[in-house]
Amino acid sequence: MDCIFCKIANGEIPATKVYEDETVVAFNDLEPQAPTHILVIPKQHITSAADISAENSAVIAHIFEVIAQLSKELDMKDGFRVVNNCGDSAGQTVKHIHFHLMSGRAFTWPAG
Ligand code: AMP
Ligand code: ZN
Repeated sequence: MDCIFCKIANGEIPATKVYEDETVVAFNDLEPQAPTHILVIPKQHITSAADISAENSAVIAHIFEVIAQLSKELDMKDGFRVVNNCGDSAGQTVKHIHFHLMSGRAFTWPAG
């Protein structure tokens, strides 16, 4: 499968990784939308949030543990935003599920 985030997960494509374990990797977004903008992904290929199931949801729960840990390590005490774009109308451009972890500025709501 020609998936750019699978290739980042297995090291075929370089990325600035800020966290990695057996099932999850986190790396800096190439086009940051905030002073800190990290993408957190499962190493296994899950296409989108619409494909989360009882069989694969443990890694999604783990991603949120990693997000909480990163928020402390990177001193996001003023707050942070986690975004998942699911599907074309939501603006999902990479079809491997990823969670944007953004911090370092104020965010508006609702997100445009
Ligand atoms: P989305 O639009 O939610 O699918 O987000 C995809 C994100 O992946 C965008 O913010 C891109 O800037 C980012 N991105 C795409 N290719 C790379 C890459 N090779 N390394 C890091 N971030 C990337
Ligand atoms: Zn993939």
